Amino acid sequence: MRVVVPQETADGERRVAVVPEAVGKLAALGCTVAVQAGAGLAAHVSDDELVERGAEVVTDRIALLQSADVVLSVQPIPVGDVALLRSGAATLSFLQPWAHGDVVRGLAARSVIGLSLDLVPRISRAQSMDALSSQALVAGYHCALVAASIAPRMFPLAMTAAGTVPPARVLVLGAGVAGLQAIATARRLGAVVSAYDVRAASADEVRSLGAKFLDLGLETQEGEGGYARVQSDEFLAKQRELLGAAIAASDVVITAAAVPGRPAPRLVTAEMVHGMRGGSVIVDLGAEGGGNCELTRVGETVEVDGVSIVGVRNAASAYPLHASALYARNLVNLLSLIVRDGEWAPDWDDEILAGCCVTRDGQVVSHE
Ligand code: NAD
Repeated sequence: MRVVVPQETADGERRVAVVPEAVGKLAALGCTVAVQAGAGLAAHVSDDELVERGAEVVTDRIALLQSADVVLSVQPIPVGDVALLRSGAATLSFLQPWAHGDVVRGLAARSVIGLSLDLVPRISRAQSMDALSSQALVAGYHCALVAASIAPRMFPLAMTAAGTVPPARVLVLGAGVAGLQAIATARRLGAVVSAYDVRAASADEVRSLGAKFLDLGLETQEGEGGYARVQSDEFLAKQRELLGAAIAASDVVITAAAVPGRPAPRLVTAEMVHGMRGGSVIVDLGAEGGGNCELTRVGETVEVDGVSIVGVRNAASAYPLHASALYARNLVNLLSLIVRDGEWAPDWDDEILAGCCVTRDGQVVSHE
């Protein structure tokens, strides 16, 4: 079975779907690995390191894709490349089918198997394949560091002969995988951190990191699989009213709230931004999902009344070396479920494969 890794082509994407360690693991599964020349360079993975572990490096992208049994990538394979794949080949990526309908239709028309890492069910058995979590961890770390680097104040308390510098007050909205990592990172930098989430279970996780959980006294409803569900308009209005004071009292607000497959919940309004002190910072990880803050512009940093609002784009790509290493492990673990002695042997009744399979046998089988 020939596993190929083409160069990522999306703007600003620095991650790569294979690292040297993964080449050896794929060989142990009975696969050969071929990588487009230079595919790992932005993640500081050299062609030589990959070759040392047994990969073949190929300069001709078209020939590489035509030769593939399995294509591994971070972003979905570009729609223009789909026609290069042979019928029965497979592609594993963050396919996000709701955002890439053209690719999904192309894969089905070509009878290519499309597996979407973002649809791997969040069950215990699938934790080692959970690329949403591995990349969210990197993203949360990034958000805290961006905030610390652009804030005009330091994060830690400093008691010096020249006087005392108070610690920064950081508020994290949305304490999922990314939010918790942002909390942990801001705490390590010495900030005083508080956090809020609609899921009751997150309160203990927040406290275990040494942060204060902001209890708004609102009754919330949990969704399935540990996720939040969409809250009512009345709930969100009340939530904004209660959050206003906490936001105004914060030096830094990191927003990392999301509901799977839905636009980012709007937690910070323009009015709240106007209520913040000049020099405050908002880092919005929900930017690509439409923004947790009303004034966010994705991929940009805007300043409103002296408040900097960072619309984070592709946060995990900011640390491509570790993000790629974790992602490549997620891919290898998912492939271990499918490949037996170098042969493609999927059990489509397996909950994990059924959950993440988007196209097979010429059909679109899942769009969720
Ligand atoms: P996510 O990225 O979908 O959402 C981020 C956070 O935003 C969530 O904690 C959510 O509750 C919160 N949120 C949504 N609407 C909000 C609102 N209006 N106000 C405030 N916060 C809001 O979620 P995620 O980080 O991928 O995962 C969330 C949780 O799922 C985890 O913390 C964990 O409990 C669970 N999980 C389980 C597994 C597993 O069992 N394998 C794996 C990963 C995550």
